[in-house]
Parts: sequence; structure tokens; C-alpha cells
Amino acid sequence: MDYKKHVKIVEDWPKEGIKFKDITPLMADGDAFRSAVDEIVEYAKEKEIDIVVGPEARGFIIGCPVSYALGVGFAPVRKEGKLPREVVKVNYGLEYGSNILTIHKDAIKPGQRVLITDDLLATGGTIEATIKLVEELGGIVVGCAFIIELSYLDGLEKLQGYDVLTLMSY
Ligand code: IMP
Repeated sequence: MDYKKHVKIVEDWPKEGIKFKDITPLMADGDAFRSAVDEIVEYAKEKEIDIVVGPEARGFIIGCPVSYALGVGFAPVRKEGKLPREVVKVNYGLEYGSNILTIHKDAIKPGQRVLITDDLLATGGTIEATIKLVEELGGIVVGCAFIIELSYLDGLEKLQGYDVLTLMSY
């Protein structure tokens, strides 16, 4: 499947110098979206996944159909203040400033095998923070799956030692 024809590159968004990869056309195309989800499901099938975890918001869009197809649950990672019960938190650096991600304390049981999903791997900060949350709860990250990897930002370096699937690279 040629996924790239379904990705629109938006120059200078959200700020000057950034070439934003917009995957909403891919999600809007039934064949392309199903094919992308199917590839991730195929990758995950042999991994005996107990639960899928995705950071807001596009990690949900990828992770939920994958968890449904695998017949396992989905746990959301959200920005601080969005989850209603007791959470664990991680603070991670952004290019300017920092961000806090959270997950419900009871979202993952120790020893559970976790697949992490997101739409895009850029610097890897988001996924590194998500991995920290999963591991703090005793989960085992057995795979990380992305639709897109921006290879010029070296996010894969932060994922050394983890099993990673990316469907396309820029
Ligand atoms: P990272 O933390 O630098 O790896 O950034 C990845 C996060 O930012 C993901 O959750 C993406 O949804 C979002 N992101 C960064 N750049 C883009 C882009 O070009 N298109 C879509 N999402 C992006």
C-alpha cells in the first residue's frame, strides 16, 4: 500500500520551518486506514499482547481499532488533569517547555504485555514518556507501532532495545 499518497504535508505548521505530516486523509480513506491498522494487528498478533496503550489524541485513533481487532483492551495516556481517578505522571521535555502525561494507576497490571501505538514518531519524547508510565506500573513493552517515522529527528534512538514497527518513513 502506498500510504504516502494519503499524507498531506503542511508547510510551516504549527510554526515556521515545520513540515507537518497530516494523516487525516489516510484515516478518511477506508482502504488505506484498514490496511494500516491490519499491518499493525499482524505485527502484534504473535506478541501475546494483553493491552494496547496510546497517547492522546492520535494514539487513540490507531490504538483503538488495533485493540478491537486483537480482542484486548485499550488504556489511554492523557495530558495532566484529564483522567478522573488516581494516576501516575511523567514530565517530559518539549522543544520549548515541558509537558506532563498521565495514566490511571490501575490501567496496567504488573507483568502485562503492552503494545504502544501512536500516529507518528518524531523526537521520541512522547513515546519515551509513555513507555516510562507503562513500566512504572510494571507493564512490559513488547512493541511500539507508528504509521510514520520522521527519521531526520532520530526518535528511534530513544527506542533502542524496544521492538518497533513503522509503516513509512520521511
Ligand atoms: P515526539 O514526541 O517529538 O516524538 O512527537 C510525536 C507526537 O507529536 C505524536 O503524538 C504526534 O501525534 C505529534 N506530531 C509531531 N509531529 C507531527 C506531524 O508532523 N504530524 C502529526 N503529528 C505530529
